[in-house]
Amino acid sequence: KELPADPILENSRRQVEKACFSYVHPKRTSNPELLHASPEMLENLGLTQKDSQSEEFLKIFTGNAVIANTKPYAMCYGGHQFGNWAGQLGDGRAINLAEVVHNNSRWAMQLKGAGATPYSRTADGLAVLRSSIREYLCSEAMHHLGVPTTRALSLAITGDQVLRDVMYNGNPDYEKGAIVCRVAPTFLRFGNYEIFAARQDFETLKTLVDYTIKHFFSHLGEPSKDTYVAFFNEVSQRTLETIIEWQRVGFVHGVMNTDNMSIVGLTIDYGPYGWLEGFDFGWTPNTTDRQHKRYRYGNQPNIGLWNLYKLANSVYPLINDAKPFEAIFNQYKDDFEKKSLKMMRSKLGLEVEDASDTALIQELEDNLLLTETDMTMFFRKLCDFNLEHKSKGLKIVNDAFYVPKEVSGDIETKWLVWFERYANRLKQEPITSEERKAKMDAVNPKYVLRNYMAQLAIDDADKGDYKLIDTLFNLLKKPYDEQPEHEKWFAKRPEWARHKVGCSM
Ligand code: AMP
Ligand code: MG
Ligand code: MG
Repeated sequence: KELPADPILENSRRQVEKACFSYVHPKRTSNPELLHASPEMLENLGLTQKDSQSEEFLKIFTGNAVIANTKPYAMCYGGHQFGNWAGQLGDGRAINLAEVVHNNSRWAMQLKGAGATPYSRTADGLAVLRSSIREYLCSEAMHHLGVPTTRALSLAITGDQVLRDVMYNGNPDYEKGAIVCRVAPTFLRFGNYEIFAARQDFETLKTLVDYTIKHFFSHLGEPSKDTYVAFFNEVSQRTLETIIEWQRVGFVHGVMNTDNMSIVGLTIDYGPYGWLEGFDFGWTPNTTDRQHKRYRYGNQPNIGLWNLYKLANSVYPLINDAKPFEAIFNQYKDDFEKKSLKMMRSKLGLEVEDASDTALIQELEDNLLLTETDMTMFFRKLCDFNLEHKSKGLKIVNDAFYVPKEVSGDIETKWLVWFERYANRLKQEPITSEERKAKMDAVNPKYVLRNYMAQLAIDDADKGDYKLIDTLFNLLKKPYDEQPEHEKWFAKRPEWARHKVGCSM
């Protein structure tokens, strides 16, 4: 009878107990090719453009070499997926290469799609080009939008084929394999703590929490009950802040499972995410969540809180007192209201705080839902609203309506009433229209990675043409700037793309 595999040497899929991570080796790739490297991330890591063109760089970031004196590893974590405890998940296709300290910043580099780990469960540990392009472009774009996020250093194809789908005729539909090197101060997630609490392994839980505080929350001081409370409080605040930023730019994460919630409040795991086109609180890009829409745009702040409840349950054994948690949750709810209001005021260019603003914003949101209205275009066009020409308000935003002729009759009246109200409200503001426009332009992006834009880059890349990846990458570095040569990307979603969003695998 065959002996069971040596779990360490064979790196077999297994339940990993009493450990935060497992050493693994990236899988060799047959014919890797670097498609893109982020100049900003190269610089952050102390690398040059020339370094990125070296053979060594290619080898390291596509699985064919390990950086000298380092030991790559995959992390153990669990998570609540769509509300249910899912047990051990872990880095099933992510491998941490090493950490770099440069210019006083600490960066962990991680290959996504570099082969199986003990946490791969039934899957292959690989990634396909389409999902890698989406992660690569979006994580850098989010950074430039000012949203806390994991970053991306490089995008490469492996030369290997990856199987995700079977075609209608039963033939396998092979796709190009790819690897993204993503980078962040840490990739620790809520799920990293949940797994040890679920297993009642409080010793490892404490080791991990103390490690987290020491390296990423060192300003909170030495470990103690008070420090743990302060730690949880800060995680709560950072989580909310990041989600409010998502709401500001119309980003819908799509899979806010607790294993996709960063302990340092970054946007993490770019899978079936999408950007709001038509403003709609009920929208989710995740086709597997179309029934309950748990992770819809309007629910993201609530889910952040729900996820924090789960994290609280996990770190509770280190604190043993429910009171501080209650206070932190109440604070989250309060801050959610306050910060949402502040964020929406900034989108409308309102600096004075007036008691009527809540109603003004509510009325605007109601109107945005009357007919399909492109969120990004609406707010960007609104920056041009000018008190001197207030009767032109509706004309200014006309291009944001998917079917402009629907904005007639009652609907038109509602908009005219709103613009009148907005114009009156602006009279309280001490700044000029020009000053207000500059401020509004800085919070209402002109260019975001619309779902169809990523799709066009993917379609080209499938044919071996990678130019659009570079074009979009550069465009999205300056999302708040006018870029006249790129005006075509400031446009509503074309009709062919209506039902074509995202992909997660
Ligand atoms: P996600 O839905 O992307 O957050 O993934 C949930 C879990 O599935 C994580 O533990 C991932 O590492 C794992 N996973 C996703 N795709 C793969 C894959 N192709 N191979 C192995 N594990 C995967
Ligand atoms: Mg994930
Ligand atoms: Mg994922």
